[in-house]
Amino acid sequence: MDTDLVAALDIGGTKIAGALVDCEGALLVRAQRPTPARDGAEAVMRAVADVLAELRASSSWGRARTVGIGSAGPVDASAGTVSPVNVPAWRGFPLVDRVAAATGGLPVVLVGDGVAMTAAEHWLGAARGYDNALCLVVSTGVGGGLVLGGKLHPGPTGNAGHIGHICVDLDGDVCPCGARGCVERIASGPNIARRALDAGWIPGPDGDSTAAAVAASARAGDPMAIASYARAAQALAAGIAATATLAEIDIAVIGGGVAGAGEVLFEPLRRSLRDYATLSFVRHLTVAPAVMGTDAGLVGAAAAAWASQEKGAGAPTPQAAALR
Ligand SMILES: [Zn+2]
Repeated sequence: MDTDLVAALDIGGTKIAGALVDCEGALLVRAQRPTPARDGAEAVMRAVADVLAELRASSSWGRARTVGIGSAGPVDASAGTVSPVNVPAWRGFPLVDRVAAATGGLPVVLVGDGVAMTAAEHWLGAARGYDNALCLVVSTGVGGGLVLGGKLHPGPTGNAGHIGHICVDLDGDVCPCGARGCVERIASGPNIARRALDAGWIPGPDGDSTAAAVAASARAGDPMAIASYARAAQALAAGIAATATLAEIDIAVIGGGVAGAGEVLFEPLRRSLRDYATLSFVRHLTVAPAVMGTDAGLVGAAAAAWASQEKGAGAPTPQAAALR
């Protein structure tokens, strides 16, 4: 018998990916388009519609019951709208309604990309088996998501766990969000690179001045590069320790391009955590690299879709309730 599937969409500033996903997380059919991020709202929507049209052309489409969307944020799941920072034409864009219309009225679930990554790591990745987890995406920005009591906790608007914009430096630099001393303002890739350059770090002959190049210098023993990563790790550790103390999380999973620095980031992170995660109930906290890679967004969007179906199946319909 053919089993049910969900359709997953991963919407980012550079690409829009889609897939049909089974209940074990296998991506059966895929489609992808570049995001025309500098074009108008309808041009971006057309790319989404093209991805969905390619999925609908598959013979498996008839088994799709729900659509899960993980989108660059901010998102507003309660309103069904998205306003991705890196897609300027979409501000309060009614993505849920438009995707429902493009799929013949399937139910649509929307979460932020940090929450989607968290759902993926909890379902099949490094946070599997943990009932209380914080997952972080450290890249151009810093995002995240929470699993509490064994369940994804997206919050009312789909943004809960957005650790990048909690303050870890009271009088720190102004963050693009308007606050000061945010984790992202210290720990994102561009800020790691900027801090190293400000301290006098000199890029190699290829001129590469990204956080990845700083990581390579740190591995080679460059003190300015090592210090910039240590400062990023300190900010992440303070944010993770605060979250652990508030919500009693057991594991922090860290993904995104900056996590690719490996021990250059993880060694000072574990060290800093010992300074900030001090109470008995947070001292056991585990830190682990993410394992889901570039498919985390699609797998996570699918996980959110499956979770919403379970919720739907568990709650009695009005008719069923009336019959009791
Ligand atoms: Zn901020």
